[in-house]
Amino acid sequence: MSSYKPHAIAGLIFALPFIPSVFYLFFALLGASIPDMDHHNNNNKVYSMFAIGIVLSILLFFYDGLSISALILVSLAVIFYLSKHRGFTHSFLGIGILSFLFMLMVMGFIPVLSRIFLSFGFNISSSFILLVILALLGYFVISRRYLYIYLLVLAIYLIIFPVDYTSIQWSMVLLTMFIGALSHIVLDLWTPAGLKVFKPFTDFKFHKGLAIILVVVWLLSSIFVLWNYGSFITYLNPLFMYT
Ligand SMILES: [Zn+2]
Repeated sequence: MSSYKPHAIAGLIFALPFIPSVFYLFFALLGASIPDMDHHNNNNKVYSMFAIGIVLSILLFFYDGLSISALILVSLAVIFYLSKHRGFTHSFLGIGILSFLFMLMVMGFIPVLSRIFLSFGFNISSSFILLVILALLGYFVISRRYLYIYLLVLAIYLIIFPVDYTSIQWSMVLLTMFIGALSHIVLDLWTPAGLKVFKPFTDFKFHKGLAIILVVVWLLSSIFVLWNYGSFITYLNPLFMYT
């Protein structure tokens, strides 16, 4: 499925039963957008990712010491550039590695940005730092058509419901990004072309059948999680808190 909108919606729906707060939906949306970064339509985004990554790496190296996050950004651009469409970024191993790298990148940018703002004498709020990082990530992976809506919703959300980055559950960030990417794979499996989801272990192409199995697994684990732990919906409180 080449259209962006169904992927974005599926990512949000798939993550919904698992999130402790609405904040994590932003990561699900990013996750759902990641696999198609290998598409030639997104070449410009990959080039800008590479260029900004290089510039940030050099700037941060001289200003703040080595920044692993900027180097991760460069490596992600290289991975997307080298991936054939519907190859590595559309495999289980691929989305696992990519979600992990994205999580590490967000994690790493937080202390770097707060140090830089502090060195300029600005005591910037946690939410503003998260806004800068999630806006940057959105700029790279969210479809240009929907980028403004994403940025607007992100900014409004963080103004109304401030998020303290020390309270972020990083395992949940990883999980929601992975689930977002997984929803992308489920939709793509539905298309006639199918996907080699177990690459590099096997080149066997999977189709609708696996998509149905994945939806059933998702449904069962959603019921299990909601039944055992409830969710932010069950408790209604804290509906928009971050913990
Ligand atoms: Zn795709």
